[in-house]
Amino acid sequence: MAKRNIVKLGDDVLKKKCRPVTMIDSKIHELLDDMAETMHEAEGVGLAAPQVGLLKRIVVIDVGEGVIELINPEIVSVSEETQTGNEGCLSIPGRFCEVTRPKKVKVRAIDRHGKAFTMEGEDLLARAFCHEIDHLNGKLFIDIYKEQQKNAK
Ligand code: ZN
Repeated sequence: MAKRNIVKLGDDVLKKKCRPVTMIDSKIHELLDDMAETMHEAEGVGLAAPQVGLLKRIVVIDVGEGVIELINPEIVSVSEETQTGNEGCLSIPGRFCEVTRPKKVKVRAIDRHGKAFTMEGEDLLARAFCHEIDHLNGKLFIDIYKEQQKNAK
C-alpha cells in the first residue's frame, strides 16, 4: 500500500465526470488499498478517485465502522427527511460549509470482487455517500452550498 497525493481545489480533475470501472483487476485493488490508506492518514471520512487524480467511479468511506469500498456507485433512493450540518473536503482544506443532505441514502455499487450490493446509510454515512458520489460527477460541496444558498433566497 502507498499513500497518494490528494488533489486540491483548482485542479481541473475535480470538475470532471468520472468513467465507470469496466474491469476490476489487481490495479483497482491496489488503488482501493491506497485510497483507504490516504483517507485514514488525512483523517478524512471519505475519498473519491478524482481526489487522487483518477477519473474512475471509485469511492472509499470510513465513518468509524470500517472501510466501505464502492465501485460504480449509484444513489438508489433518498429519504424525504433531511439533515443540515457542517461539511468539509480533503481537497478543500480548512473550509467548512453548512450543507443540507438527505438523512438516509441507499446506494448500489459493486465490491472489489465484482459483486453487486446495496447499502443504506444514515446521518454521517448518508452525507458521505452524497458527498463522494458528487465527486464522481465533478461536483464539490462548495458548489452544492452555493446552490442551496441561492435557492434559499
Ligand atoms: Zn470531498
